[in-house]
Parts: sequence; structure tokens; C-alpha cells
Amino acid sequence: MATLYDTLGVKKGATAEEVKKAYRSLAAKYHPDKNPGDAAAEEKFKEVQNAYDTLSDPDKRKQYDRFGSTNGRRGPGFDPGDVNFGGGGNFTINDLGDLGDLFGGIFNRGQTGRARRAQPERGADIEVPVSLSFEDSLRGLETKIPVEVTTACRECGGTGAEPGTSPVICPECHGRGVVSESQGLFALSQPCPRCRGNGTVVEKPCKKCKGSGRERRTKRYTVKIPAGVKDGTRIRLKGKGELGESGGAAGDLYVVTRVEPSKKFERRGADLLIEVPVTYTEAALGATVDVPTPYGERVSLKVPAATQDGRLLRIRGHGAPKLGANGAKGDLIARLRVSVPKKLSKKEREALEELQKLSHDDPREALFS
Ligand SMILES: [Zn+2]
Ligand SMILES: [Zn+2]
Repeated sequence: MATLYDTLGVKKGATAEEVKKAYRSLAAKYHPDKNPGDAAAEEKFKEVQNAYDTLSDPDKRKQYDRFGSTNGRRGPGFDPGDVNFGGGGNFTINDLGDLGDLFGGIFNRGQTGRARRAQPERGADIEVPVSLSFEDSLRGLETKIPVEVTTACRECGGTGAEPGTSPVICPECHGRGVVSESQGLFALSQPCPRCRGNGTVVEKPCKKCKGSGRERRTKRYTVKIPAGVKDGTRIRLKGKGELGESGGAAGDLYVVTRVEPSKKFERRGADLLIEVPVTYTEAALGATVDVPTPYGERVSLKVPAATQDGRLLRIRGHGAPKLGANGAKGDLIARLRVSVPKKLSKKEREALEELQKLSHDDPREALFS
């Protein structure tokens, strides 16, 4: 097979200047405007263009020298509807210099229709839910989470070729990944159907991944869930998502917490609300009552005299840990509920009847004012 150097008629060690010079003279010779209707000349012009495209770029040239291909994995992201309205060819005009003057403005138009290379594409993010008890959400914990992800095939290392063999340059597109088809004045560029834009083909596909180079696999990640997460908190594990395409970065893994509700405590930001029943006499006379914290402790709460039903009392520092606040906690908020006895002893009844006789307070007064 002719190399790109053969196409330009230069030696493999040719300098950038020699490559450019050879390209200019060949491009001038085979340009479609100088050879109207000559399909062979047009084909030759494209080959020269291809060769120069690779050999004029130091990185691509280095890659070509090493692998015999520029293997840019031109796959996804390529728009097959990329139609070139330039003057009869699908060219890239790099560093054309005086040649540009020779053909007037035609190159400027030709430039717009260049087949796009695949851009590196970032891998997708993955979301995995993790269920937590209410207590664990306050304490925090470390847990292992199974995540199904696509990884490079372990058998072939991601090349898709059977171990011991390697992918070869695609004979259809000579490693370019795109093919051009002339239709009169139009040149249609599309991903090479043989290699699907990869520039290389696998002759003996890896048996494990059937040539795809990828495999689905369950990975286990250890995740530290900080104390104080809420239902729906997202914890990001950078780069643990799906693999990227064409050298793009991997996506991220988001662990989303699902916190079981508590029977006693209601989360309000970093504060926790708890309903605390008190008797009529405790509310009226004032009292000190015990309130449970979500950490298994008891704290004393002073209920002032003449406390009304629904009153909120704040117990500082016994709420949920504030995320990223170095152990600082929100408050525990007691909502007092005046509880009416369901059953009365004879003595209690008598005492309450006595109380009613003494009572001078009309709670409905405001309704009639
Ligand atoms: Zn190909
Ligand atoms: Zn494989």
C-alpha cells in the first residue's frame, strides 16, 4: 500500500518545508479547476490533500509514523449531512500561501465543508440511589455501592482485537475515518462505512466483547456518606461515571441518598422538629419535661407557665449536623401539644369540676368582639 509520503512523493524523513513544497506543486497540478471533468485528477487531488492534512500536522504525523494511522476515532458526533458546496472538492486548505492566489477565492469556500473530526465526548453521568435509615443520615456512614458501568474490555484492553492481534488501518479510508463521494459539484463526506469512522478495523475480534472493546461490569465503590445528608442529597464521585468517547473524560457518579422518614423527627434544614405532648397543668403552671434527641439522649426542656398549644421551643445544638460545618448542628425544635386525658379517675374529675367553677377565663371572648 502506498504511504502518505509516497502520495506526496517525499521521503519519510522529509522536513516540513519539503512536505509543504511537494504538496503545493501537486495540489496546483491536480486541482479540479485546472482539470475540469477529470475524475482521476480529482481523486488524486483528494489523496494529496489527505496526505498533506496528516503530514503537515506534527502530532498527526508522529501518530501516523508510529501506528500507520491517525486513528482519530471519528465516530459519534460526525454529521453525515455535512455537504460541501465548494468548487468540486472536499478540501481542507491549510497554509496554502501563494496557491490561494492562483485559484482566487475558491479555497475560502472549500474550507467550510471540511469533514469534522470526532470531538472528545465526555462520558455520561450515572445516578445511583442509596437507602439510609434516618439515624444513619444523621450519623453518616461508609458503604459499598454496586454500580453497573461500561469499562474497557479486560480481555483485549479496549482495542476490540483478539489478544495477540491488533487493529489494522482501514483499507477503505486509509485510516482517515471519512470517505468522500463526489456528486457533480457536491462532495459528500461521511464516516467510513467499513470502520465506522474509527480509521482502523479489527480483523480478529476479541471473543469476550465481540470487537466492541467495552464491557458492562458491576463495580463496587466505597462511598463515605457524610453525617447530616438529607433525602435527595447528591454525593459526587468524580470520574466514576461512564467512559468518555474519543479520549473524552469519564462522567461522574452521583450517589443520591434516600432517607427513610423518622416517626418522631421532621427535618427542616438542619433543624429537627419534634412534637412534645404536655398536660394541661404542665402547660398552665410551667414544668420541666424530658425530650429525646435523635442521638438517643434525653434533654431537659423548661416549659414556661401559661404555654399555649402549638408553642415552639428551641433546644440549641441538638438538631442535624450541618454539612461541611465541622460538626456544627442545627437545633431541636419542640412543638408543644396540650394533651387532654383520655380517662379520668373520680378524684381527677372532681378536681377538674372544682377548677371549672373557679375559672374566670373565657377562651372564646375574642370570637365575639
Ligand atoms: Zn475506514
Ligand atoms: Zn475485548
